[in-house]
Amino acid sequence: MKALLLNGQSHHGWLASSPLVKKILEQTCLFSVDIKTRPPKGSDMSGFRPEFEAYDLIVLDDGGDPWSDATNAAFVDYISAGGGVALFHHSCQLFHQWQEFNEIMGLAGWGKRPASVGPRLYWRDGEVVRDTGPGDAGDCLDLRENQIIVRDPAHPITKGLPEKWLHATDELYFNLRGPAKNLHVLATAYVEPQAEAHYNDSGFGSGEHEPVLFTVDYGKGRCFNTTLGHVEGGTPADTRADSMECVGFITTFQRGCEWAASGNVTQDVPADFPAEDAISIREKCELPSAA
Ligand code: ZN
Repeated sequence: MKALLLNGQSHHGWLASSPLVKKILEQTCLFSVDIKTRPPKGSDMSGFRPEFEAYDLIVLDDGGDPWSDATNAAFVDYISAGGGVALFHHSCQLFHQWQEFNEIMGLAGWGKRPASVGPRLYWRDGEVVRDTGPGDAGDCLDLRENQIIVRDPAHPITKGLPEKWLHATDELYFNLRGPAKNLHVLATAYVEPQAEAHYNDSGFGSGEHEPVLFTVDYGKGRCFNTTLGHVEGGTPADTRADSMECVGFITTFQRGCEWAASGNVTQDVPADFPAEDAISIREKCELPSAA
């Protein structure tokens, strides 16, 4: 399958993360990945017209200015007709004023998203709860290890994974909001109420189990969204990417991308997948050497 990775505008470290995404996807032997970098922030976007329809999957590693209306329309046509989209972490900051895009990714943060964009989603007592209360969209706990809890062990993306696994050092997004139509929560992480946070009036965590892996069906197409994968801005040589070197991130992203592109997952769970209380890292996302 062919994947197109779009990047070019973000305060996150896309110069470091995009090569890792390409490597991770091509390791599956399911994808070849092209990368298209758009002009810097503030540039004229009218010439940025990716050939969406030539690809099975569009991956977003970006967080910047709006595309042109024509590119937006082509993107909506692409996914409506059965295309696949995958995005991680900072890409949920994209395009706050574009209603269809908010529906495609389901939940999002920052970019002046008010409460009117839709509810927050929490996992309580075995089901999703929608919170329509006040507050802007998007908050973040600083770098830490987070335990991830699988909430749907039957979905192709999460099938065979341990119920709980420890994700390597990463930011933890919470208080995301969005239309959340046709949204399916696959996994959550707990945000302690005493944890210090930066973007809400209380200054603390939500005390809720918050979605970290979820899917959205849109038209005939599919979107896989993971809030994991923080990579600091900077030059690739001195950028740490523990979040993406985590075998939990690698595995769920590979599977999520296959599902978004095809509706199916054929990949096994690797032997070095993290345990409930132990992280597992692949340096620079290199495959483990054969035994
Ligand atoms: Zn981040």
